[in-house]
Amino acid sequence: MAFDYDDNNIFARILRGEIPNDTVAENLHALAFRDIAPKAPSHVLVIPKGRYVSFDDFAANASAEEIAGFMRLCAEVARKEGVSLEGGNGFRAITNAGPDGVQEVPHFHLHIMGGRMMGPMLSLRD
Ligand code: AMP
Repeated sequence: MAFDYDDNNIFARILRGEIPNDTVAENLHALAFRDIAPKAPSHVLVIPKGRYVSFDDFAANASAEEIAGFMRLCAEVARKEGVSLEGGNGFRAITNAGPDGVQEVPHFHLHIMGGRMMGPMLSLRD
């Protein structure tokens, strides 16, 4: 079954230039911008420019060039934000997928968060 992409999701609108964003870095295949509600001193979202709903959609269906471009931009963000292990103190990178992952925006994105100790990986509720 194919992934069902919604062209009106907020990140699609950012990519079309309809909504402003605070860009951190960009290349041919991906865009990185600051999260509007940061959960850490540095909280950047990295998104592919292609129409991918989620991590599994991107991993299964993106081209090798798109995947490489996306990953390289993640590395650039970590360096620029000073959280890379090349001189920095580290970061957390997470992606949420679908209802159980509590994904709010249905365009694949990776959260890169750092600038403080991020604590336990998950805080579970019943
Ligand atoms: P997720 O729950 O993984 O889908 O996360 C969606 C993230 O997008 C949240 O952390 C929001 O704060 C963030 N967000 C929503 N709208 C915007 C926007 N216009 N610009 C930047 N970040 C946004």
